[in-house]
Amino acid sequence: MSRASQRYKLPRNWIVVPLIFYSLIFILAIGLISVAFTVFTEYSSTLKARSEIEKTSHYAELYETAGEGSEEKMLNYFKTLNLDCIVLDNDRNVLRSNTDVTAVLEVPVNDEEKHFSFVSFSFVTDEEDGYTSNYFYYPDKEGGLLTIDYDVIKPDIAEILLHAPYDFFRNIENKETNYLPYWTAFKINNGSEIIAFKSYHDISFKDVAYLSLFFVSAYFLALLIFILLVTNILRTHKNNRNMRKIVFRDNITGNKNWFWFALNSKKLLKKNRGGMQYAIISLAFVGYRNFVLCHSFDEGEQTLKNIWTVIDGFLEKNEICAHSTSSNFPILLKVSDEADARKRLERIIKTLETIGGEHDFKFQAGVYLIEPKIRKNADIDLLYNNASTARLTLEGSDDTGIAFFDQKLVEETKWMDTVSERQREAVEKEEFKVYYQPKYDPRTNELKGAEALIRWISEDLGFVSPGRFIPIFEKSGFITEIDHYMLSHVARDQRKWLDEGRKCVPVSVNVSRAHFAETNLAEQIRDIVDKEGAPHDLIEIELTESAFFDDKKVMLATIKKLKEYGFLVSMDDFGSGYSSLNSLKDMPLDILKLDAGFFSGDKADGRAEIIVSEALQLARKLNMTTVAEGVEEQAQVDFLAAEGCSMIQGYYYAKPMPKEEYEMKMASGNSQPQAQETQPAPEQIRSLKARLMEEKDALAVSELIKKTISISNVKDYPKELMDELIASETPGHVLELASWTHFYVVELGDSIIGCGAIGPYWGKEDESSLFTIFVLPEYQHMGVGHFIISTLEKDEFFTRAKRIEIPASITGVPFYLKMGYDYKNGIKEPDEEHLIRLEKFR
Ligand code: C2E
Ligand code: CA
Ligand code: CA
Repeated sequence: MSRASQRYKLPRNWIVVPLIFYSLIFILAIGLISVAFTVFTEYSSTLKARSEIEKTSHYAELYETAGEGSEEKMLNYFKTLNLDCIVLDNDRNVLRSNTDVTAVLEVPVNDEEKHFSFVSFSFVTDEEDGYTSNYFYYPDKEGGLLTIDYDVIKPDIAEILLHAPYDFFRNIENKETNYLPYWTAFKINNGSEIIAFKSYHDISFKDVAYLSLFFVSAYFLALLIFILLVTNILRTHKNNRNMRKIVFRDNITGNKNWFWFALNSKKLLKKNRGGMQYAIISLAFVGYRNFVLCHSFDEGEQTLKNIWTVIDGFLEKNEICAHSTSSNFPILLKVSDEADARKRLERIIKTLETIGGEHDFKFQAGVYLIEPKIRKNADIDLLYNNASTARLTLEGSDDTGIAFFDQKLVEETKWMDTVSERQREAVEKEEFKVYYQPKYDPRTNELKGAEALIRWISEDLGFVSPGRFIPIFEKSGFITEIDHYMLSHVARDQRKWLDEGRKCVPVSVNVSRAHFAETNLAEQIRDIVDKEGAPHDLIEIELTESAFFDDKKVMLATIKKLKEYGFLVSMDDFGSGYSSLNSLKDMPLDILKLDAGFFSGDKADGRAEIIVSEALQLARKLNMTTVAEGVEEQAQVDFLAAEGCSMIQGYYYAKPMPKEEYEMKMASGNSQPQAQETQPAPEQIRSLKARLMEEKDALAVSELIKKTISISNVKDYPKELMDELIASETPGHVLELASWTHFYVVELGDSIIGCGAIGPYWGKEDESSLFTIFVLPEYQHMGVGHFIISTLEKDEFFTRAKRIEIPASITGVPFYLKMGYDYKNGIKEPDEEHLIRLEKFR
């Protein structure tokens, strides 16, 4: 059994089974006591007889050793001991006696027997009845007691023994004596005579009473133990029930907690298979902490209670909810589909929003629809985690919202794992490369500086852009190591370039805000640079604007120290969303980097220009150098030059480039603006949207394909061939392809500007194929192709495949090669379909 399924198991609270068990034990005990009673009674009567024999055999010996002439004396002596005695010869004639003879030995005496006894019932030696009854007793022999009856009966010996105490008692109770006399006889004088003593089986009423009392006590004890055990079971059962109540209780709302929810949702999911679908939901009250801060803890708790009550009121049969941590409520709902789940949640949330009265309450819910096939062995933690993951995607906003879990979230998590797994090895293998992006003076086009930007060229992941791993490193803390890595590489390069006699310009290095908790950051930077021997004034430290929100004191101290050591310090991404005017006031920075956001997007109303112009003035007044980032157009350069911006870092001049290329830029000193190429433009990609194609898009997609083929592909293929191809690219053809592939379209605003599909390679499970990747000619070389490929490479057809093939047009090959695809079997020539097969292995 898995650990997860064990986690939600309570010990069983059984009652019937132990009750039956103890009853059986009780019955068994009573039986055993009864048997013991019988055996003991039998044994004790035998024991009595035996001890009597021992005693009388001693007297028989005395009699024998006394010798001839002393017989009468001995008999008299026995009389004084109150011991009746008779002496017989072998023919059973009485030779002498000190009492009335009441018993007659009837059985011939065997030679081997040393002693024997015979019993007489005085009350049956009644001659009136016409017979005399005598019992003859052989204590050493099995059977022991034997009836010698002249006339009629020889009762069964065993029976007499078994019933002896009662029978004797019953038989003699009306007599003056309450004992049973019998005779014990021994052979003496070499077997010529027999001496017999009258013994008493003195089992009295008292004995029977004691014995009975003992056994009655035993029965009673057994009963007592039984009762104690049963009450104990009942008490444990009740305690268990109470304990369950406590274990399941949520302390805040007084209702059920997560543990109860997990246990019961498992049961519900197992039980109600088929029929409705279930959705597990993680619902959170947004801003709970603030609410508690502004009001009181008690009010906060009361609100949580109210929330629970509202949710509970919406539940139907076989649906549950609970309160888990903080302001989170797990809910299990029966829904027919995603739309139904949304509808029901919206209704719940709508009511919840009203409970705050004048307060504006907001709620966020993450939903995971539970596939029927996983119900039987559902791992509730995992399912709820999925729901919470979905909810956390809403976390950036404070508004009400509902998010459904989708597989992409899992892919993201997997990607994070992949990155974390490989990061260390990547550093060791020097897979991280320093790219340099030059900064130019817009008036003179002179090289003034550069920014070091990281690139990960991974052996098994291919080219990974910083946006896909830097945030992960920032979360994991690995960014510290990466920044040190970059800093030392830059310092090393600067040192080398100086030694080679090149004209060096300052290179800025990004230091993540994650560092600023470290009070000795400045010293660390100094030591790293000194180790490589680079002059401090050739190193610039870029601090991102959001970092200025952390510990200001520590930051100020760090900046001051860095400046003391002679490093330049810049504020990166100025104007990217946080108000940083305050930081400008406090922090003695050298350089202000205007965020790329100012130079992208809708520029129609000229507001950005006003802000940029003011910011540049402000910086000048504060004696700061300015850098404008993300500048791509001539007009922007002209504007910035006119406004007195000191440097421009953007695609207009140059993209981030490998060291060798940058060395060439250093050598030439100034730059001619570059034409756009196929590098992705992150700003633009950010506003692109990919989605699966719908039927209504078929026409637009077919038009897009036709247009692209007729403008782009026609350069590489004969016109007739392309005309033929264009004729075949009908909406129907597009829909047919979409029926067995995942066919994506890429939108910029409302218009579709690109497309691409991924599907199985000839029906194989572990091989896939990319199809129909097209970007409208006017949008080519802007990163749209990258975006399509990265969308397709997130698709499950890609992630499940070991090999992915592209039947590429000659036109597309250079691009696909850049995307990490290679010639299949090394064949670089088009096949009979005029396509070149490319492939990638994962
Ligand atoms: P950033 O520090 O703001 O870097 C500037 C980003 O803008 C770079 O993206 C650069 O390639 C891009 N860029 C420059 N000019 C243009 C342009 O004209 N148009 C457009 N569309 N983009 C332009 P990149 O290299 O992808 O880096 C993204 C972010 O990753 C960086 O933003 C930085 O925050 C982070 N990063 C990169 N390298 C490092 C590093 O070594 N350490 C740390 N801590 N962060 C890094
Ligand atoms: Ca930067
Ligand atoms: Ca920046």
